[in-house]
Amino acid sequence: MSITGSCHCQKVTFTIEGDIPEKLTRCTCSFCSKRGALYAYFQPRQLALKAQPETDTIYRWNTKLVAHHFCANCGCSLYSDSPAFEPDGKWDGVTRRLGVNARLFDDLDAAEAPVTVLDGRNLW
Ligand SMILES: [Zn+2]
Repeated sequence: MSITGSCHCQKVTFTIEGDIPEKLTRCTCSFCSKRGALYAYFQPRQLALKAQPETDTIYRWNTKLVAHHFCANCGCSLYSDSPAFEPDGKWDGVTRRLGVNARLFDDLDAAEAPVTVLDGRNLW
């Protein structure tokens, strides 16, 4: 199955080869709590993004290891490209993971979907 979605102004559209996870993730860290995204996680090869180069913009903070992509035109958060950390915090230095903003998906009411809370406020 594939998932389609877009930002509000449609300058960024995407297709994901895969299924919507059973649970989305809400992170409590200082950035995510302000940003309000509900994340669905995928491997980088699953995401095909179509964007004009100047609209896919990146914000980094703290360790700068995570690239938080957003649309420079309408401001919607798109996805976060982060190291694929193990639950104990270890990382192989190579593998990445994408947390895509499920609120942008065409056929999902993300606000009504089951959610796992990630305690980012106390983890980093
Ligand atoms: Zn946009």
